[in-house]
Amino acid sequence: MKDEKLQCFICNHQDNTGIALLNQFICSRCERKIVNTSPSQIKYQLFKEKIKLLWAR
Ligand SMILES: [Zn+2]
Repeated sequence: MKDEKLQCFICNHQDNTGIALLNQFICSRCERKIVNTSPSQIKYQLFKEKIKLLWAR
């Protein structure tokens, strides 16, 4: 098996440990942030983070 790294949907950090959420890969660092968020807020948080990155371009 190849040691392929995936790119985190939130911080764009490349990692091979993490979770898949909403069909996107999320690194273990961001996962830890997310577990402290209530499920109803996760979608909103992801959206907010992603928008921030888009604006930062
Ligand atoms: Zn991340």
